[in-house]
Amino acid sequence: MAGLERLSEELEQLKQQGRYRLPAIWESGSGSWMEMGGRRVLQMASNNYLGLTDHPRLKQAAIEATQKYGVGAGSVRTISGTMDIHDQLEQELAAFKGTEAALVFQSGFTTNQGVFGTLLGAEDVVISDELNHASIIDGIRLTKATRKIYKHKDMDSLEEALRGASSYRSRFIVTDGVFSMDGDIAPMPQIVELAERYDAIVCIDDAHASGVLGHCGKGTTDHFGLHGRVHIQIGTLSKAVGVVGGYVAGSRELKEYLIHKARPFLFSTSQTPAVAASCLEAIRVLRTSPELGERMWASANAFRSQLQADGFDTGASETPIIPIVIGDSARTMAFAARLLEEGVFAPGIVFPTVAADKGRVRFIITASHTADDLEFARQALLKVGREFGLV
Ligand SMILES: *Cc1c(COP(=O)(O)O)cnc(C)c1O
Repeated sequence: MAGLERLSEELEQLKQQGRYRLPAIWESGSGSWMEMGGRRVLQMASNNYLGLTDHPRLKQAAIEATQKYGVGAGSVRTISGTMDIHDQLEQELAAFKGTEAALVFQSGFTTNQGVFGTLLGAEDVVISDELNHASIIDGIRLTKATRKIYKHKDMDSLEEALRGASSYRSRFIVTDGVFSMDGDIAPMPQIVELAERYDAIVCIDDAHASGVLGHCGKGTTDHFGLHGRVHIQIGTLSKAVGVVGGYVAGSRELKEYLIHKARPFLFSTSQTPAVAASCLEAIRVLRTSPELGERMWASANAFRSQLQADGFDTGASETPIIPIVIGDSARTMAFAARLLEEGVFAPGIVFPTVAADKGRVRFIITASHTADDLEFARQALLKVGREFGLV
């Protein structure tokens, strides 16, 4: 086995720690009710915030693009993999974000590999919120830049890091727009102010804010009215936008620089025509459908208030991401399993993703959830919550 025995030993440890978990297998598309094991289950874990994954216009766009261009792009973007739909998507994304340009990657994850891996060098320092997403952390790991971590949303901690950073070629502040485990929002006005005072570049990863925050879902920069003051806006096309892919929006030079140097852009095949065309259609739907976001926000705010009134701890949530904090890993996973028996799917999120005593079950409220759906979830939560002595 040449050393592979340790895999089963480590898997055994995960089981003992209550952290062993294989992906749930679904027999239906992403929607508010999905099928698992022949049973209908209320889905409260999907990032399909606006219900776009099965939107008729997106599906039609995917079908038409497949008919016209085929199923694959055939090569990387820089050789023969840039069709007019890829170009159009980038133009409309830039217009949507209010930036000069946008560049699309295969996913949000690879966008972060491309952006950080390319822009940062040994002469730079990157200053990162301690709760930033794994793909940011990994993107930074690809570089020789000095890394500083500031306490979550703590502006004194950020300022301290900036104060000691004047000798570097450039200072990069990077933060999630909406934090995926707590559902709280980065304090962008304060971050931008500090960045301007200390001559730093601001980079925001809006994966959970794209389509969610700001007018028609334009993101955190729009939400806070900070246009022109955030240098690099990263987003995903895989969550609220409903398809798959990632992008970076910023200056024309940023785009052209990444085209020449970003390794995921240069060395991995571009989005399939169906993906590019359905992303493009999604942006068009977003621009003209503010009611989707309004419905999602109204449902999320009502659900969060109701859970709080019922006595649940929803942590720092201020978005459609609503955790219920349970405690240690095994108890959290047991809570999620009981909820599923009651017909509600929400994942247990445990150490090391969150602190060992802050295991939580995480709910994501979407525009597709009806008032009846949310009441169904609440009743299941009350029942299981009483069993666990939470309420
Ligand atoms: C989900 C997420 C990503 C990854 O996006 P994909 O398109 O799914 O690869 C990147 N950054 C953050 C902050 C995320 O939440």
